[in-house]
Amino acid sequence: MDENTHTLETLLESSIVSTSFQTDTDRQENILRPKLLADFQGQARLKENLAVFIKAARQRGEALDHTFLIGPPGLGKTTLASIIANEMEAEIRMTSAPALDKPKDLAGILTNVTEGSIFFIDEIHRLKPALEEMLYIAMEDYEIDWVIGQGPAARTMRIPLPHFTLVGATTKAGSVSSPLASRFGITAHIEFYNEEELSRIIERSAAIMEVAIEADAIAQLARCSRGTPRIANRLLRRLRDFASIMGDGHITVEVVEFGLGRLGIDEQGLERQDRNILRTIIEFYDGGPVGAETLSISVGEAIESLEDFYEPYLIQKGFLKRTPRGRMTTKLAYDLLNIPCTRNLDDNQGILF
Ligand code: ADP
Repeated sequence: MDENTHTLETLLESSIVSTSFQTDTDRQENILRPKLLADFQGQARLKENLAVFIKAARQRGEALDHTFLIGPPGLGKTTLASIIANEMEAEIRMTSAPALDKPKDLAGILTNVTEGSIFFIDEIHRLKPALEEMLYIAMEDYEIDWVIGQGPAARTMRIPLPHFTLVGATTKAGSVSSPLASRFGITAHIEFYNEEELSRIIERSAAIMEVAIEADAIAQLARCSRGTPRIANRLLRRLRDFASIMGDGHITVEVVEFGLGRLGIDEQGLERQDRNILRTIIEFYDGGPVGAETLSISVGEAIESLEDFYEPYLIQKGFLKRTPRGRMTTKLAYDLLNIPCTRNLDDNQGILF
């Protein structure tokens, strides 16, 4: 048998689904993950729309349309996928594109999904082309073609699939092919959270973790969480550690200041590497432009984390710009680092003269 030749049984046996293996961080994240739309803070318009689509699909007794979730890491894409499943009272299977290597991996899951269930693929922009093709046929026609046998004896078997909902998540919408992107009936952009929304998330998490935290400390932590719930929760866990070592376990403003200082996070939520990126562009490339690859080597950071994690927040805060010629720092970055800016900044193009 070659690698594409499988009986239905082997397809049904194969499983790349992430139910069994969880790291400790995953477990801690899962405890804090909201289960229903009502507990999901912020993203008001997205939530309202999703509530309507879910209610309508349930009234019709149909699966929800395929849903595409776009946004930087830690903003709640995985959480939303499981909320959709809970609200639809449907099963969910979760995987991520890098875990799907061969067509049989994807076919194994697709042939196991049940009517109306949710199939979540994280990092869908990393799906291999052959799998992507299989997926968009499955999304549109609810079937897959499977080749059985080899050479002249090979024949194609059409396997019908139940009506399922694909929830695809990506940090890079631009890297998803248009045939795949166009097969999603619902597309949702998840934005960075504001301080008020993050404060509510921190308050909720602190209650679940049974840790006492002052209102001022919540507000300060919210300001330093990069607009990102995952970071807010992670910092809360670290501050709980500082609070229990430093005092009686209460998180006060002093604990937040001390803890964030020790973690190298400033009052804008920037980490050492954020400042290192800005300083490198200013000192080595005279403010830019500098290409992403060169920059990633200069700062010793993988290009994916540079593009997906560091840059979106630096851009949102107005310290960095992406231009056709590369990354450039803004006047704000010079001010942040107390470096005199000797060049003129052209705001429209981000080009310095
Ligand atoms: P992503 O899949 O976008 O990387 P996750 O869905 O894994 O992000 O979210 C990371 C963590 O942040 C989750 O554990 C969850 O507790 C929390 N979180 C994300 N969005 C929200 C939200 N809107 N309200 C409350 N908590 C949230």
